[in-house]
Amino acid sequence: MSLRVLVTDEIDPEGVQLLQAEPRLRVDESPTLPKQELLARIGEYDAIVGRSATRISDELLRAAKKLRVVGRAGVGVDNIALDTATALGIAVINAPAGNTVAVAELFFGVMVGLLRHLPQATQSMREGKWDRSQLLGSELKGRTLGIVGVGRIGSEIAARAQAFCMEVIGYDPYIADDRFRALRVRRAATLDALLEEADIVTVHTPLNDETKGLIGRRELGLLRPGSIVANLARGGIVDDPALMSALESGQVRGATLDVYQSEPLAPDHPIRQVPNVVLTPHIGASTAEAQRNVAVDVCRAVRDALLEGELSRSINIASVSLGDGRWREVQPAMLVAQRAATVTRAILADQGLRAVRRLSLRCGSGLLDAGDLLLSAAAVGVLDGVVETDRLNLINARTLAEGRGLELSVSEAAAAPPHSIEVALSGGMQELAVAGSAAPDGAPRITRIGSFHVDVTPRQTLIVLTNNDVPGVIGRVGTLLGDASVNIAEYHQARLAQGGEALAAISVDGGAGPDIRRRLLELPDVMTATVIRFQE
Ligand code: NAD
Repeated sequence: MSLRVLVTDEIDPEGVQLLQAEPRLRVDESPTLPKQELLARIGEYDAIVGRSATRISDELLRAAKKLRVVGRAGVGVDNIALDTATALGIAVINAPAGNTVAVAELFFGVMVGLLRHLPQATQSMREGKWDRSQLLGSELKGRTLGIVGVGRIGSEIAARAQAFCMEVIGYDPYIADDRFRALRVRRAATLDALLEEADIVTVHTPLNDETKGLIGRRELGLLRPGSIVANLARGGIVDDPALMSALESGQVRGATLDVYQSEPLAPDHPIRQVPNVVLTPHIGASTAEAQRNVAVDVCRAVRDALLEGELSRSINIASVSLGDGRWREVQPAMLVAQRAATVTRAILADQGLRAVRRLSLRCGSGLLDAGDLLLSAAAVGVLDGVVETDRLNLINARTLAEGRGLELSVSEAAAAPPHSIEVALSGGMQELAVAGSAAPDGAPRITRIGSFHVDVTPRQTLIVLTNNDVPGVIGRVGTLLGDASVNIAEYHQARLAQGGEALAAISVDGGAGPDIRRRLLELPDVMTATVIRFQE
């Protein structure tokens, strides 16, 4: 059966072709649809790919009963009800990198335009003039460029600024010194230090609570008189009214803006009339190349999410920073985390603990980068079969778990082997930990249940028994399972001390009938029995 994808908002054809080339996908292309029409149709689709014109609202997501993926060809997801998508387990995928170069190039375009008065030159030529004396400009060479936010775009600007022989300083508290060194950008210790030194300040941070009004009246006052300010990131990072006052006073000599606090910019907005300002209507990403890049990027990621379950590009999943290759590498570890959690929950439930309060995951050093993702996988394992949703997955498991009052934590098991994973569940006075390992070259294994060391593959069905360590139990269990036509794949018996309590981890092919547990419990010396059927 094919999966259906709705492509809207005129996505570049190269991206659409990528989806159409996949026989397992059925792609419908449509121009931006009116809200009600989209609402009526969305229920048929497994994925929707669009740009900013289509609003993916809370109402739309709730009506989209089959939807698994929302793709946004571009970076901003302001048009998507992200929290609802996360709660419903719908992946949201964007294309943050495809337009980096387009914005970086625009920066130099508008900066040279400002310094060489290109808009005025064009205007005076249109008016039939030859007004060279009014158009004396200045150069970028030798000026100090202060980049606030040295991420993708900030880095590309830094590289190009060096070609213009500029001095480049950067402020970004979230970037390591190594990265500054590699980019040959001098690190400013504080934003104030950058502002005091720069001739041109350009912001390239996201817009959030921390960066809203980052460059306000006080900050503009720290600039050298006659500096230049650029905002091609998001409206509001530079406070527009404060910028206008600074332009009027001459503290700021010129400015260039591509983004505004309210878009589209009002036709009578006073900034439109300020001289020495180059304004563009949010065209940072508006190049044919960038549109193609983001379309191809997002369509590829949507295809992989639908067909391979590859969610490394989903922005509403933990550990989105794991790259493509790494995502695949940690799949076995995710399986162990999920199944260890399922085993732990099932054993505790058979012991009478159903209301689990805490889930603690500990992993070896080799998996620490994927810790958040493994925690999500463990949360899926705990909730699987417990919560009523047909869309329990890595995206919403943690939100659902926390909504049920479960405390989640992840930490490093420093002394443990690098690829080990331990899931501990507790509630009241009870606690149980199940550990496993997922070395890159080996099969996923469950290696410990409580204090018992075992070694068994978590596949199909696992039976966990505790019994008195006396002769004959293994034979009786084997006979009972054989009589019930249950084929044993692996049987691992462990004990703490001779004659004490023993534990058996038995992996069996296929399922085990509903009365198997009851019949196992009737065997002499068997104390507990738990049958865990994994979702394959
Ligand atoms: P990015 O995530 O690669 O980089 C952002 C950088 O800002 C990161 O390095 C981060 O550490 C840094 N940062 C965060 N908070 C900071 C703070 N308080 N002070 C200093 N640095 C801080 O993002 P990007 O792709 O480079 O995009 C940068 C901005 O450009 C975003 O706001 C994006 O929305 C915008 N953008 C605009 C257009 C356009 O059409 N004009 C197109 C693409 C992107």
